[in-house]
Parts: sequence; structure tokens; C-alpha cells
Amino acid sequence: MNLQPSHLAFAAGTAVYLAIRAVFQHRAASSRKAVSRADTRDRLLIVLAGACQIGLPLILMLTPWLDAASYTQPVALTWAGALVMVCALWLFWRSHADLGTNWSVTLELSQNHRLITQGVYRRIRHPMYASFFAMGLSQALLLNNWIAGWAALLAVGVLYGIRTPHEERMMLESFGDEYRAYMQRTGGILPRFVPRATTTNS
Ligand code: SAH
Repeated sequence: MNLQPSHLAFAAGTAVYLAIRAVFQHRAASSRKAVSRADTRDRLLIVLAGACQIGLPLILMLTPWLDAASYTQPVALTWAGALVMVCALWLFWRSHADLGTNWSVTLELSQNHRLITQGVYRRIRHPMYASFFAMGLSQALLLNNWIAGWAALLAVGVLYGIRTPHEERMMLESFGDEYRAYMQRTGGILPRFVPRATTTNS
């Protein structure tokens, strides 16, 4: 058992994260799917991320198995972790709210799918994945354990690297030039303020 105050803060933040997800999952449940790219690879990536975001922290908090990988750090880093978690939860909530019924856990498009380009989607295409990275960073700063703390950031990096090209291909196939133009003027997880230069053949 390894329950430090920062671990409890992480557990509280994770409870809020799961509550946000449950609310929007319930809202999106009724939307009928038109396109699904929910294959085994995509589901495995979600399971991997979940195991690192929830499974490993639970093992750290409830068993002594990962104690050898724990370390101490300046208290300012722990406070920074709490601040990053609050920002991550805000972004996670806003990206769900802006996507509304267009959101799905796996790669899918609903029958009345609309391309969202406003709110937190205005300058970045992947604010929800950006919130995963921020959650991962807060996990590292709050759990101060080389395994349970840092594994989520690694898993989110793998998820982002593998899933995003498939997601963008699906969006391009459905929204064509509208999504192409959206890609030109936005960044992936970091905001873009100046549109990407377009190449011309002349
Ligand atoms: N990559 C986005 C969304 C993650 S949820 C983010 O990080 O914020 C994944 C689902 O969201 C995809 O299956 C796709 O259907 C939908 N989606 C992604 N970007 C979208 C957009 N700009 N507008 C509408 N739906 C989008």
C-alpha cells in the first residue's frame, strides 16, 4: 500500500476524467454509425492506454510491487502535476463538449456526422489527444514512480502515433477538401496560428 496525498489527488482527477467520459458516452450512445474503422489494432491501443492510465496506478497504490521504482522529487513538481491535471481535465471536457454526438471511443463516423472546427478544435485537430498527453504528464508528476508514473505518456505517444494517421485518412475520405483545408490551418496537438503554405505547380 503506497497512498501519498499526491496519489490521492491523481485518483480524484482520474475519477473526474471517468465521470466526464461516462456522461458523454451516454449522450453519444444513440447516434447511428455510418463508418467504422474500429479494428483490433484500434481496440488494443485503447486497452493499452487504459492499462497504463488506470491499471498501473492502482497497482502502485494498492500493492508494494512497484515500490522499488518510486523516487522523491521537489514538492513544486507535485504541485505542477496538480495544475497540469486541472488543465488536462478542462481540455478533455471541452473537446467532448465541442464534438458532442460526433464523438466515439473507436474510429467511427455517425450518420449525421459534422466536421467540428470551432471551440477547442479551432487551432488544433486533436485536443482530446492533447488532453491525454497532459493527463500523462500529470500522472508522471503526481505518482513519482518510474513505471506507474511514466508508462501512460509512452502509451499515449504510441496511440497518437499509430491512430492519428488512420483517423485523419477516415476524415479525409468523408470530408474531402473541407478536412484538407482544416488540416492546412491547424496543428495536431500544438496550436497553429499561421496556415501551412500550400504548394502550387506553376
Ligand atoms: N482526434 C480528436 C477526436 C478524438 S475522438 C481529438 O483528439 O480531439 C475520435 C472520433 O472523433 C473519431 O472517430 C472521429 O469520428 C471524430 N472526430 C475527430 N475529429 C473530428 C472533428 N474535427 N469533427 C468531428 N468529428 C471528429
